[in-house]
Amino acid sequence: MAQKQCFPPPQRLLLGPGPSMVHPRVLQAMSTPLVGHLDPAFVTIMEENKRLLRWLFGTENELTIPISGTGSAGMETCFVNLLEPGDEAVVCVNGVFGQRMAEVARRCGAQVKEVHAPWGRIVDASDVRAALRNCRRPKVLAVVHAETSTGVLQPLEDLAALAREHEALFLVDTVTSLGGHPVRVDHWGIDVCYSATQKCLSAPPGLAPVTFSPAALAATRQRRHAVQSWYLDVSLLSQYWGADRVYHHTAPITMNYALLEALRIIEAEGLETRWQRHERNHKALAAGLAALGLRFAAEEGHRLWTLNSISVPESVDDAGVRGALLREFSIEIGAGLGPFKGRTWRIGLMGESSTAANVLTVLSALESLLPRFGFPVEAGAGVAAAQRVLASAED
Ligand SMILES: *Cc1c(COP(=O)(O)O)cnc(C)c1O
Repeated sequence: MAQKQCFPPPQRLLLGPGPSMVHPRVLQAMSTPLVGHLDPAFVTIMEENKRLLRWLFGTENELTIPISGTGSAGMETCFVNLLEPGDEAVVCVNGVFGQRMAEVARRCGAQVKEVHAPWGRIVDASDVRAALRNCRRPKVLAVVHAETSTGVLQPLEDLAALAREHEALFLVDTVTSLGGHPVRVDHWGIDVCYSATQKCLSAPPGLAPVTFSPAALAATRQRRHAVQSWYLDVSLLSQYWGADRVYHHTAPITMNYALLEALRIIEAEGLETRWQRHERNHKALAAGLAALGLRFAAEEGHRLWTLNSISVPESVDDAGVRGALLREFSIEIGAGLGPFKGRTWRIGLMGESSTAANVLTVLSALESLLPRFGFPVEAGAGVAAAQRVLASAED
C-alpha cells in the first residue's frame, strides 16, 4: 500500500495551549544559513537575545539566557540549580504544571511541602504562609503564574512578600504569561523565572528563557554538591553565555535566530500594547462564549487572557467537537488535563494567535458545530457579542 503523504502537514489555526501561530518573519529567520556557535556574528546574536529577554522579563539579572530545550527544561534548570538533597521547598499546586514542579523538586532530593488549591482557583496566600512557617528553613517557594491546565492567573505580589519574609527564593513559571500578561521580575521580587518560546512569544518550541537573580546565583555557589544535571548547570552555561565563551554544548543556532526575530517583533509592538491586545481579545472571546451559553472553568477575576479554559456542557462529546473543529475548520483547541480531562476545552489566544479575526473565527466555528452535538445555540450570537467588545475597545 502506498505510504500516505505525511509532509507537509496541513495548515492549522493553532488556538490550543501551545504551540501558537508563528509569524512568517520568524519562519523566514529560521531558513537563514548557519554560522558556528562560537562565530563572532553568533556572539552578537546571543548578546541581543540576552538584552531583549532582560527587557521582556523586566529584569537587570546578568544571567538571563535561553536554555536549549522546551519549557520543561527551563523548569528543571531552575530547580536542579537551587535544590539539593535535604533542602525544603514549598510548591503551590493547583494544576498540572504545579504538580510537575513538585515532582521535579522531589527528584532533586528536596523535602517538598505542597500547598493545594482546587483546580480552577488561585492558591491562597494564607495557606502558603502556613506552609512556610512549618518549614525549618525553606529554600524555595515555587508557583505557576499562568496555570495552562486550568486557565488561572495567580497573583504574585503577596507570595513574593512571603518568600522574602521567610528568606526563601521565589521561583515562578511564566511559560504562558511572558509576552501575554505583565511579568515584572525585579519589581515583584522574583528570584528565578522560566518561560518557553512556543506560547506567547510565538516562536517554535525549542528554547526556554530563564533568569536568575544575584541572590539565586549566590545560592548556587553555596551548594554542598555539584548540580546533578551537567547539561543544565547554570555555572557552566554562564561560561558560554558570558564573556568567556567556553564551549559547553552546541547552541541550537536556528532556534536562536527564531527567538531573536520573535523578540524583535515583540519589541516593535511594545509590551503595553501587546498586553492590551491579549486582554481585549480574551474579553471578546469571553463575551462570545457567554452569549453561546458556555461557562469558564477558571474562577472569575483570575482568568488568563492567554488561555481560556471552558467547561464542556453536560452531554456534549468533548473529543467529537475538537475533532470536528480540526477536520472541518483546521482549528486546533486543547483538551482538558488531569481532573479536567473530558470536562474542559482550552482555547489559547497566545502571541500571534491572539487576534480579533481568530476570536471571530473560532466562535463562528463553534456556533455551527455545537447544535450538531446536541447543544443548541443562537446562530451569530457569539460572534455578535464578541464584535461589540472589539468595537468598544476601538474608541
Ligand atoms: C507548556 C507549559 C510548560 C512546559 O513546557 P514544554 O515546552 O511543554 O516543556 C510548563 N509550564 C507551563 C505553565 C506550561 O504551560
